[in-house]
Amino acid sequence: MKCRKCGGKAAVNMRQHKLALCKEHYLEWLPEQVERFIRKYQMFTRDEKVLVAVSGGKDSLALWDILTRLNYRADGLYIGLGIVGDPALFRASGYSAESHRLAQKFADEHGLTLHVVDVEQAYGYPIPVLAEMTNRGKGRPCSVCGLVKRHEMNRIARDLGYAVLATGHNLDDEAAVLLSNTLTWSRDYLLRQGPLLRESPGLARKVKPLCRFYEREMTAYALLRGIEYIYEECPYAVGSTTTYNKELLNRLEGQRPGAKLHFYLRFLQARQEGLFGKMDEERHTELQPCPQCGQPTSAPGLCAFCRLTARTKTIAIS
Ligand code: SF4
Ligand code: ZN
Repeated sequence: MKCRKCGGKAAVNMRQHKLALCKEHYLEWLPEQVERFIRKYQMFTRDEKVLVAVSGGKDSLALWDILTRLNYRADGLYIGLGIVGDPALFRASGYSAESHRLAQKFADEHGLTLHVVDVEQAYGYPIPVLAEMTNRGKGRPCSVCGLVKRHEMNRIARDLGYAVLATGHNLDDEAAVLLSNTLTWSRDYLLRQGPLLRESPGLARKVKPLCRFYEREMTAYALLRGIEYIYEECPYAVGSTTTYNKELLNRLEGQRPGAKLHFYLRFLQARQEGLFGKMDEERHTELQPCPQCGQPTSAPGLCAFCRLTARTKTIAIS
């Protein structure tokens, strides 16, 4: 297989695009495509400060790398979840400690700013304990984890003056979530699921600049660029619905290259055409600020995050 641009030996073959590229041209091509996607969805400009949620995995580190190479003003945010997992897989220090080490290493090597929030230090308990104490999630801490991450990302963006929050979700992530939302026809989730979620009072704009790139494309980028990242997934991802949906979609993709990309891009088109409602309904207007943390909430009184932390305090006292 030869590189389409220079005829040299191809390093990556993208069957869905009928395109093969050598290392050098692939490392050029991917950031160019990301730039086009950022512009297409008017995600942010070079004047705006972007906060990249960095997990230590390939997608978020590759995103940070690409944005800085494209001369965007991108800083990182690492949220320490306190997840340990199998010590044999994570240099005995645990999943979160190892992912923090790699995020920090990337920041140091590139002279970038990484903000760090440690959930246990900030709120008294790591994510798995918070989930257990509050009985949310039935053995899987993902719903508590998602709630805490959303809250903390918004808090840091607001407190430190970032206009935009960027996450490294790739096409495989988005297609798997889309499959879940479609199987249940969750209109509200479908309306909000896209590359750009506009800002609203108290909530930063959210963008996913990698969401039209396959996971294998991101892996290839990270490897060819020499980015050291955490290979293992969070131990709680094993056996989850998202993982199951990814496997289903991979089987489909194996039979019909490009199926995943079409599924997602056609959805974006249908969403744009108003199939799930008006785009300006993405974020509800009837939100009010939480009396404790100030973040917008649809609940009367405290937001879900403040109710969670209040509950852990009551449990700790009783
Ligand atoms: Fe959090 Fe669940 Fe993702 Fe692990 S798999 S990082 S617990 S949401
Ligand atoms: Zn609150």
